[in-house]
Amino acid sequence: MTKNPTHSVTVLGLGLMGRALAGAFVREGHTTTVWNRTAAKADELVAEGATLAPSIRDALAAGPLVVACVSDYDALRALLDPVGDQLDGRVLVNLTSGTSAGARETAAWAVERGATYLDGAILAVPAAIGSAEAVLLHSGPREVFDQYEPVLRALGTTTYLGADHGLSSLNDVAVLGLMWSILNGFLQGAALLGAAGMSASSFAELAKRLAPTVVDWLPAYAEQIDNGAYPAFDSTIDTHFGAMDHLVHESEALGVSTELPEFVKALGERAIAAGRGGDGYAAVIEQFRKPSEVA
Ligand code: NAP
Repeated sequence: MTKNPTHSVTVLGLGLMGRALAGAFVREGHTTTVWNRTAAKADELVAEGATLAPSIRDALAAGPLVVACVSDYDALRALLDPVGDQLDGRVLVNLTSGTSAGARETAAWAVERGATYLDGAILAVPAAIGSAEAVLLHSGPREVFDQYEPVLRALGTTTYLGADHGLSSLNDVAVLGLMWSILNGFLQGAALLGAAGMSASSFAELAKRLAPTVVDWLPAYAEQIDNGAYPAFDSTIDTHFGAMDHLVHESEALGVSTELPEFVKALGERAIAAGRGGDGYAAVIEQFRKPSEVA
């Protein structure tokens, strides 16, 4: 197998994630220059073969490709604003988490300083970086992604989403929303079962078996959402609603929080009021598409 040619890459930000990113570049054999506000965080990386730049200016001068991963976009701007002139001719790949608007603003800011900008989002924990399990989303100019993907793939599985710089952050929060919904649903169930003397571990076993089944429904529901028609092929919203009511009553009876169950029930109620009771669950999308009514 031919080895991926090595490149020069600068990593700015050596927190938990930045260190994992820099370590993956080093292990792939790329010439890796690192810089962090707190320089001591580079010690292990330097021992592994990275070069610690004495200043952020030196870090930016080390090569054309700059990967940044700091706490948030404000921190990134605070870091780079004073050395903005040094961005001219650089390719800035920003893997810091943020919003789509923040990504678009940062892209315009970087382009004004002569840089090419690729935004990115990391859907992984630091320990997974460098393995195929780590999913990295990218958005920005396609030709820039194509040119640097052979370097970026050292970090995990790369996915290009489109030219709009905001798409990585947008997809990132969408996935996080899914993650919190799964976790909150699990915690609600664990609280219910716990109140009845059952362990969270026993619920985890059941959840592990059944959550993949729910995930398997998603492509068919997505097709209905994309087509704007929701014929019930498994269960109607009316049927779901009865079970939503049971979740509220069980929670009340066992003295656990009813907030999440009440919210779920309210969604069902609104869909039924909109005439969707006989449709499949995907029709609830219409409730999510509307701005929230402020009480
Ligand atoms: P972290 O361990 O808290 O590291 C934060 C980094 O930002 C450090 O390098 C810190 O420098 C730097 N920083 C913060 N404010 C700064 C400023 N004003 N000027 C210069 N440097 C500044 O956080 P992390 O876990 O590495 O996360 C970094 C980014 O990755 C975040 O946007 C996070 O959402 C994203 N992310 C993290 C994970 C994860 O599991 N950790 C997963 C996906 C995405 P010092 O070392 O000097 O404080």
